Amino acid sequence: MTTREGNLQAPTRHALDWRNPEFYSEEALFKEMERVFDICHGCRRCVSLCHSFPTLFDLVDESKTMEVDGVAKADYWKVVDQCYLCDVCYMTKCPYVPPHPWNLDFPHLMLRAKAVHFRQKGAPFRDRLLTSTDRLGKLATIPVVVQAVNKVNTMSSARAVMDKVLGVAKGARLPPYDGAPFRKTVGASIAWPVRDGERTPGKVAIFSTCYINYNEPGIGHDLVRILAHNEVPYRIIEKEACCGMPKLELGDLETVEKLKNVNIPQLAALARDGYAILTAVPSCTLMFKQELPLICPEDADVKVVADAMFDPFEYLVLRDKDGLLKKDFKRPLGKVSYHIPCHSRVQNVGQKTREVLEWVPGTAVNTVERCAGHDGTYGVKTEFFAASMKIGRPVFGQMAQSEPDFVSSDCPIAGRRILQGMDESGTRHHGKKEHPLTLVRMAYGL
Ligand code: SF4
Ligand code: SF4
Repeated sequence: MTTREGNLQAPTRHALDWRNPEFYSEEALFKEMERVFDICHGCRRCVSLCHSFPTLFDLVDESKTMEVDGVAKADYWKVVDQCYLCDVCYMTKCPYVPPHPWNLDFPHLMLRAKAVHFRQKGAPFRDRLLTSTDRLGKLATIPVVVQAVNKVNTMSSARAVMDKVLGVAKGARLPPYDGAPFRKTVGASIAWPVRDGERTPGKVAIFSTCYINYNEPGIGHDLVRILAHNEVPYRIIEKEACCGMPKLELGDLETVEKLKNVNIPQLAALARDGYAILTAVPSCTLMFKQELPLICPEDADVKVVADAMFDPFEYLVLRDKDGLLKKDFKRPLGKVSYHIPCHSRVQNVGQKTREVLEWVPGTAVNTVERCAGHDGTYGVKTEFFAASMKIGRPVFGQMAQSEPDFVSSDCPIAGRRILQGMDESGTRHHGKKEHPLTLVRMAYGL
């Protein structure tokens, strides 16, 4: 076996072998963790990415042997708990990913550990609640309930109770719910003639996502208005369930598969009918593009959907290359501090959002490519909140540097966290948070 440093070939990713009973063997899991942790201990290049790696290296350095064999297996879970499955170590750092013979996939090993833990112990009420984004959204946006929920989420006394009883960090700003969900309020598309490009289908199906539907429907409306301005007919996915990313984070693979079985048949039918599928939340796009094909590699429909899935800015840039996008921008945006979230970075489509924002005359973009620390539900949990703010601190500082007119991230939740970090460090002077799709809608003068 070769032990050369790094990879000379493009990385490949193996499917997750989660239907194999061995996948759930704790003994086999610990053996693989010891092997991988030993390689990481010798490498250490991911030390600054998240708290998983510093936790591991501290455990090794404080052990009697100062090697991985000196770390108690029970402490391995401490490393697992700190991983929020951003995929950045695999996609951007690790030289030992397949086809390297060391075959190292740190995020998938953490996912396996989470799945083993979930099967052994289930998940606490707090985690089940936070990851039931669809159910929670439906309940919270009922008229009257919505005002009460939003009020409670901002009351310090109520938040102190939620922190103590539920484990939801009182310091974490929670996104308000919107009483006018996107799916209920979006208008029908004009039946523009379909103009397929060489690189882009000429009609779009929108997967709304729980977050856009219940929390920030305005971003969905902005996407629709941009499409309408460019005369791209659109439709909304009819019976949408959560994409499954929050349940993946829990290691609840059975529920991920159940959600897949609701979404994929209708999405695949639309993809086969020539629709591009767009979602405005990078984690949901990533779920369909990269995670589900590795979890259900035998499902041909999953592959069809992955191939039809576009990040909205990837779609706009390709549409421009097809000569089918309007660039009649009417309003300069000034100084924009733009953050690329981890789940956009690992889609490997390049900095498409930055590219589009830079088309707008009178716009200067300060781009920040680093984890903002929120990471799904990690950043709102009491036990991880302080670590999450620490992870985000360099981003808060870099985003504030140009004294921006707008603070923007493709991930609306990361955008909120960045604003909180800037506010708390006193570095936000007048910058307003807007999603990049909102900025493009504004630039078009819509
Ligand atoms: S997937 Fe992300 S959070 Fe998990 S270990 Fe890798 S860099 Fe850290
Ligand atoms: S995941 Fe790869 S790059 Fe990161 S510490 Fe481990 S071996 Fe090194």
